[in-house]
Amino acid sequence: MKKGIHPDFKLITVRCACGAEHKIWSTVDTLRIDVCSNCHPFYKGGKGVQFVDSEGRIDKFRRKYGENY
Ligand SMILES: [Zn+2]
Repeated sequence: MKKGIHPDFKLITVRCACGAEHKIWSTVDTLRIDVCSNCHPFYKGGKGVQFVDSEGRIDKFRRKYGENY
């Protein structure tokens, strides 16, 4: 590996808007996020959450709440 051309990776703490903290390897010093695996509804959905939108529920949701939920 050549020296000087690769960014420094370091273990940083990412703080989410919900208060959860996550340790990740990154090249930046600090990172703030709005949603994480702890609070995003996708991860909280549990059973029944599907990738396939067979019933158009995603479209229905977007029509009701807009794209910027
Ligand atoms: Zn969160």
